[in-house]
Amino acid sequence: MHVSPFVLERLRRPQRIVDVEFPVVMDDGSKKFFHGYRVQCNDARGPFKGGLRFHPQTDLDEVKALAFWMTIKCAVANIPFGGGKGGVTVDPKELSKVELERLTRSFTRAMSDVWGPTKDVPAPDVNTTPQIMEWIADEYGKIVGKPQPAVVTGKPIPAGGSEGRGAATGRGAYRVFENFRAALAMDPETATVAVQGFGNAGQEIARLFHHHGYRVVAVSDSRGGLYNEEGLPIPELIKMKNETGGLVRTADAREISNDDLLKLECGILVPSALENAIPVEVAHEVKAKMILEVANGPTTPDADMILAKRGIPVVPDVLVNSGGVSVSFLEWQQNMTGEKWTEEDVLTRMNALMDDASQAVIAAADTYAVTFREAAFIVALERLGKAIEG
Ligand code: NAD
Repeated sequence: MHVSPFVLERLRRPQRIVDVEFPVVMDDGSKKFFHGYRVQCNDARGPFKGGLRFHPQTDLDEVKALAFWMTIKCAVANIPFGGGKGGVTVDPKELSKVELERLTRSFTRAMSDVWGPTKDVPAPDVNTTPQIMEWIADEYGKIVGKPQPAVVTGKPIPAGGSEGRGAATGRGAYRVFENFRAALAMDPETATVAVQGFGNAGQEIARLFHHHGYRVVAVSDSRGGLYNEEGLPIPELIKMKNETGGLVRTADAREISNDDLLKLECGILVPSALENAIPVEVAHEVKAKMILEVANGPTTPDADMILAKRGIPVVPDVLVNSGGVSVSFLEWQQNMTGEKWTEEDVLTRMNALMDDASQAVIAAADTYAVTFREAAFIVALERLGKAIEG
């Protein structure tokens, strides 16, 4: 593709990096300083958009990389947002609930001139919840003197959140899969599925495959997985995981390690846990017929090249998990217009976005004879190039 050196250089350099040190009153009365970031990668297509991560290992490099990914993801999904990401270096498990609220409100005050409904709109990410988004919207509203729910997405429904946001990533991922199913000739009668990671996104995608008649033969969480070649009872496993916190072995399922799950003979491998789950060593041994990347960055760049050489198609994260940010966009639109849409309305709109994005990627892969990941970046860069150069 033809993309100008200026556009590439622009995307290589975040437009703005904000780095704050802010105080929090702890439960023992002491004041402690915390370090927070916001990286605004690019806003040529609309306000910066991206999650906030509260994690002890969060640092500027990680946030910069995630902000770039958001820029690409919003462009692939063709929603009018740019890309950003933020975070605080903190282990929220070490804070009481009141300390977590004070930290969130203090971080919001430190960022109040950076964020805004038409400037930069944060959302949940690792360890940040709808409750935390509600505190942000409330604190920001106090600072600007009027309610501003559109300053943040992923809020609880009574605080201006959208119907359908909770399950959006899994539902969007399944819709993307349906678009690729025809292109890759996957038959629900025979294709089997293995899902790594059984949290918010993994449970929903496993549930949808099961619901549509696929045999989900393996699922796993951080402690290991379960396997049955006849298919696992996914609704029961979701109930068990959410009641007990784990995947307990049952009479008709045997245990399987995460490593073995990734190397299973199956139709569709769905990494839905963490980044770098499929390194080079694993890529050589993947036996799935296709990979649907629900997690962000599950395949390392070198592993990606090996999978391409082996002819195993990878439907990339920037497309597959864009249902989450697409419903965030629909939440923001409802907040900006004061409308309230039903879950069916929201899902119909999200599906239309997922269909258009998937078809654009399938067409670019064909036109340029490249992998689906390269095609997704081509689609994004064409759109970003036009917006950046005007
Ligand atoms: P989550 O915390 O709800 O679930 C993560 C799951 O992965 C848990 O079941 C955990 O036990 C499991 N896990 C952790 N380490 C593992 C390992 N080594 N092997 C197997 N399983 C392991 O997180 P989530 O919200 O479901 O997000 C999962 C992935 O999807 C992340 O990469 C996230 O960035 C991406 N994603 C999520 C959303 C969303 O809306 N939830 C949106 C976009 C992208």
